[in-house]
Amino acid sequence: MADMINREDILKTDALTIGKLIRTGELTSREVTSVFIDAIKAEDSKYNSYITIAEDAVEQAEKIDEKIRSGELTGPLAGVPIAVKDNICTKGMLTSCASKMLSNFIPPYDATVVKKIKEEGMVILGKTNMDEFAMGSTTETSYYGPTVNPCGENRVPGGSSGGSAASVAADLAPIALGSDTGGSIRQPASFCGVTGLKPTYGTVSRYGLVAFASSLDQIGPIGKTAIDCAALFNVICGIDERDQSSAGSSKIDLEAVSSFDVKGKKIGIPNEYMGEGIDADVKARVTEAVKFFEDEGAIVETFDMPIIEYAIPTYYIIACAEACSNLSRYDGVKYGFRPEDAENLMDLYIKSRSEGFGMEVKRRIMLGNFVLSSGYYDAYYNKALQSKALIKKAFDEAFAKYDVVIGPVAPTTALKAGESLSDPLKMYLGDICTVLINIVGLPAVSVPCGNDSEGLPVGMQIIGKHFDEQTILGFAANWQKGGRS
Ligand code: GLN
Repeated sequence: MADMINREDILKTDALTIGKLIRTGELTSREVTSVFIDAIKAEDSKYNSYITIAEDAVEQAEKIDEKIRSGELTGPLAGVPIAVKDNICTKGMLTSCASKMLSNFIPPYDATVVKKIKEEGMVILGKTNMDEFAMGSTTETSYYGPTVNPCGENRVPGGSSGGSAASVAADLAPIALGSDTGGSIRQPASFCGVTGLKPTYGTVSRYGLVAFASSLDQIGPIGKTAIDCAALFNVICGIDERDQSSAGSSKIDLEAVSSFDVKGKKIGIPNEYMGEGIDADVKARVTEAVKFFEDEGAIVETFDMPIIEYAIPTYYIIACAEACSNLSRYDGVKYGFRPEDAENLMDLYIKSRSEGFGMEVKRRIMLGNFVLSSGYYDAYYNKALQSKALIKKAFDEAFAKYDVVIGPVAPTTALKAGESLSDPLKMYLGDICTVLINIVGLPAVSVPCGNDSEGLPVGMQIIGKHFDEQTILGFAANWQKGGRS
């Protein structure tokens, strides 16, 4: 290992730089991977960001080093280690969704994204902690215990991809994969002071992602920089015949992202995103970031988006309806948790689901069945679909005028541990800024933009037109250029 590059430096280095050092022969994937695995083993008891550590990671890295040496692997992220959220199937490695229900589930196949990161030559460090079945905003509903935010004592890392965001923030992974159904990449990225991209719906295959709400779920990257997220997006995007909603995507031009100029670009700020209920510090930091873009030559305008009022009910009705249908497959018969003492088939179903699922998951299954039941279907589910159409119209109108829409990722910075689960409604309200984006399938990036008075990171959300990841990541990269974070 080159003398210049010591252990601490490697842990702090971004993914693309690690890739470059490996390609130029200054480091090997084996060296980098063992530094990360050792750090995870030594440090992660503080954060609980991983559920499973990949014991064969160093061995995998050695094989990849050979392929890099022989010229078989040449991609920008070849040899770079990565953490993967535990709801993304990894062949032969526990994929628990942080649930007792899947605490014995070893998938016989890789998710498409896992296949793609392996083909790039990335090395899986392990599987990261999350809210059970990705339902939550704090990573406290995990069967494996809560994850701790590395940025603040006694603070939640956000959720549901809290383990992925915390692993990157704690320098226990240079980059990670998360999933976002209503904010689960962006909000933990914001709480942990890292960058997270929720791609356009359909650009990244959902094959092998354990389904929560299929019309909203999307896999995406969490990294130290916007350019890293762009590079990982390029690895995982593309058409997949195994995902019926796959739309594919062209690759992002990394050079264009790095040199992106915001001059003349139009930014829209919804008044409701900066209104009541948003913390003063959050508002101030996002306003300062927007002012920076304005000083760089962007044109900034505010506009009204009253439909935001319906964001939370629309999201929770659709998400729970789809979740109760998706989760009906866990019955103790085919796979997953099965109690020892079931007396007959009905008893097996009841006990498997009663004992296998946690509180929040059960709440959502009940809510979902309620809104779909005859007699209530029109009053709730159909209304939510009507509201979805109006939200889409509001964004279509906004994007006829603006290149990007900017606001906060969340109304607050990282919440105190142990304070959210007792009041689920309050927790749901914290999703106000993120859920709309999933309802209409848009891409959005969460970028750190300073701290609140207690030193906790604030996140700015940059939302783009469908398939325009390049522009939102360009804005993010432009902001990060001077080391702003
Ligand atoms: N916090 C939201 C929820 O609880 C979003 C979760 C997600 O994106 N997976 O549903």
